Amino acid sequence: MSRQRLTVVLSQAPGKHPAKRSLEESVAAALILEPGLDVSIVPNLYDLGPDHTGRLYLQGVTGDLLVFSWHFPRAAFWLLDRMGVPGKMGESLIKPASDEDDTETEPPEGIGSGAAIPDRHIYCIDLREKHNAEPYLAEVRRIAAECRDRRDEAQRSRPAAAAPLVQLGFGLTPKVPELPAFTPEQLLAPPNRRWYPVIDYSRCTNCLECLDFCLFGVYGVDRLDRILVESQDNCKKGCPACSRVCPEQAIMFPEYKTPAIAGAPVGEISGLKIDLSRLFGGEEKDAVSQAIAERDRELVADGRQAVGTAVGLAKRQPASPAAAKDDLDKLMDDLDALGL
Ligand code: SF4
Ligand code: SF4
Repeated sequence: MSRQRLTVVLSQAPGKHPAKRSLEESVAAALILEPGLDVSIVPNLYDLGPDHTGRLYLQGVTGDLLVFSWHFPRAAFWLLDRMGVPGKMGESLIKPASDEDDTETEPPEGIGSGAAIPDRHIYCIDLREKHNAEPYLAEVRRIAAECRDRRDEAQRSRPAAAAPLVQLGFGLTPKVPELPAFTPEQLLAPPNRRWYPVIDYSRCTNCLECLDFCLFGVYGVDRLDRILVESQDNCKKGCPACSRVCPEQAIMFPEYKTPAIAGAPVGEISGLKIDLSRLFGGEEKDAVSQAIAERDRELVADGRQAVGTAVGLAKRQPASPAAAKDDLDKLMDDLDALGL
């Protein structure tokens, strides 16, 4: 029987929203009473800078990991990867509803993040999915059992050559790495708010359109000429422009108000086609035009000249997915404006 425990981390919502805090507290209280788990609470994942103890703690977790946060699971998973917490994506049964029956027919083949993927699973659950602790606790138990079964199976299928070591008295008990020891106060040190893009490398094809489009030096490439978010703090707060020009919907801003940009399942985004000009009688702009307007706004705010379509645009943008994404954004904005 495997002894390694599942690590469960709860990432708090930014701010002090009472309903969110209350749910966090009830989930944490239930988890702490549950045997066989290592439970910790950190501030909002998205805001954890390189030296934050919450991030160092997460980097120190080597086994299976389950993270509760207020983000779409896709966004949280790739955010963790970016933070140096890679793993295989574990599938939770608590997920955005339309994920189950509205999947893409042909998702792009992404380049992967380039990080060495350790043999462990990372499950991400969005705390916006359920409003009380019970369903989360039930899912934690299910995932803990799934992880245990997987480890036991791996142990059983290990080559027999490993056996003599045990017989000689070495490693009678498999060594379980200690988690870094931080006090709850250290883990919960309030970070500053941040704003930057997160790349879903399971979709990114390395077309480099984002590198050409962003004129603020956010993107770069690694030694193998693979796209990366190099200078994340150069990104302009609240601006999601480059996510609109990515042809694969691989760029997410996990805290943007509309799901299409915040990391909602892509099948859901692609399937939604709404003619907003007919619905609201407004001007219909495509996603690229909207991105250009947003980029120009940030250039002007920086005291630079607007460039419009003159710089950094690919010759061809696939119309449908990007337009559908833009439609969704516009619908949400219009609904916001109407106070619905
Ligand atoms: S535009 Fe999208 S697919 Fe292309 S390199 Fe950037 S993130 Fe990857
Ligand atoms: S949102 Fe704007 S500033 Fe930020 S990375 Fe994208 S294009 Fe650059």
